[in-house]
Amino acid sequence: MRSEVHGTSHVELVALEKSRLWHPFTQMRDWCAPEHEPLFIEEGQAEMLRSSDGRWFIDGNSSIWTNIHGHNHKRINDAIVKQLERVAHSSFLGCTHAAAARLAGRLCDLWPGGKLTRVFFSDDGSTAIECAVKMAAQYWQQTPGQEQRTEFAAFEFAYHGDTTGASSLGGIGRFHDKFGMIHFPIRRLTGVEEIEAIPPQDASRLAAIVIEPLVQGAAGIRLWPEGTLARLRSWCDRTGVLLIADEVMTGFGRTGKMFACEHEGVVPDFVALAKGLTGGYLPLAATLTTERIFQAFLGSVEESKTFFYGHSYTANQLGCAAALASLDVFEEEKTLEKLKPKIVILREILAEAQKKSPWLGECRQCGLIAGVDVVRNKTSGEKFPPSALAGVRTCLAARERGLLTRPIGDTIVLMPPLCIREERLKQAVDAIFYAADKVAQEISAEYSATSN
Ligand SMILES: *Cc1c(COP(=O)(O)O)cnc(C)c1O
Repeated sequence: MRSEVHGTSHVELVALEKSRLWHPFTQMRDWCAPEHEPLFIEEGQAEMLRSSDGRWFIDGNSSIWTNIHGHNHKRINDAIVKQLERVAHSSFLGCTHAAAARLAGRLCDLWPGGKLTRVFFSDDGSTAIECAVKMAAQYWQQTPGQEQRTEFAAFEFAYHGDTTGASSLGGIGRFHDKFGMIHFPIRRLTGVEEIEAIPPQDASRLAAIVIEPLVQGAAGIRLWPEGTLARLRSWCDRTGVLLIADEVMTGFGRTGKMFACEHEGVVPDFVALAKGLTGGYLPLAATLTTERIFQAFLGSVEESKTFFYGHSYTANQLGCAAALASLDVFEEEKTLEKLKPKIVILREILAEAQKKSPWLGECRQCGLIAGVDVVRNKTSGEKFPPSALAGVRTCLAARERGLLTRPIGDTIVLMPPLCIREERLKQAVDAIFYAADKVAQEISAEYSATSN
């Protein structure tokens, strides 16, 4: 039954996997336990993934929020192969290449008003954020009379990545608290009302503020009240504080528009792009900024205004080729147009499932990004105790019904590739419905057994 990969049997692979690997965000004691059967993914097609035992699953979280047009997309495959046959990678330090130049042009053109004019490439969401933070920090040092702007502000429950600088901005206890002693200090904010109340002398010390526009993903699909972003933009305009929009998750159509900022007519001073940039194929990131920021870094070598920041694989050719192809697919397949009815359908079927199920609490949705809470009591919103692992178990049970996704606490995340077909959306929501039912009943039985 089990397939062999490169002459290694499945049993040998499991042994290697459990003795040699360390997975992200994973309690490895449970992962390495003898009864845990790791799922090996072997193939993908559109919104589906196939495991080595021959089962097909809906990629319910777009392979951790990266995939856009589906797996094994011919257009993107071909673009990568074509680039591969020329060169896979050459350094962006001291040289350049056509794919990066073309991609930079197209990324700027996706933003209105011609305000974002410069693209700095890096590798992933965290480095795109690091880059924006360092640019903002250095920008003010090179702006006469504004050298006091050294502080940064970010929101509670924020997530901006896991490298040390990016995680300094993060506001999720479970991810960030252990690293407090190596984080740089942050002014932590709850919402836009609090920002508008910041005294002018405090605001004048702020270099920049970072926000996930419209929706905080890792916080459990937490939606900002409508208008938050626009209000933040006008507060930044009044106070001179730079606005960094983290569109790492929301970028490339997930919210129903190309970028989340478009919903509120906002152009930030920096935007961080990653996950979906290459259609979910390769690690590549971009930090976009304005000509004003860029100009402050120009000067003679002795003035030392150069931006000394970069990574070995900056502007990797394969990544740029994939990103260009992904943008082509948006046009050729009219991805955003076709997305509109899917967003409506998802809202309807989630509401229907939520209404029918005693265990599905609040549903939060922004475009094709959705989170639904598994709860003990729907009326009061009371949760199951964390030790019951309701979210994890619901996702595992959903797997048995052909849906692959990961929870955030007890929030089940549904964020499929934009290419997903309507019937697959229904199947995905059904899987969550039945999985929540099964798991909630199991947990309730366990708790009544222990309390007796
Ligand atoms: C995933 C994510 C990041 C970090 O991106 P990586 O590629 O994992 O480093 C940053 N910000 C947001 C909003 C994200 O969802």
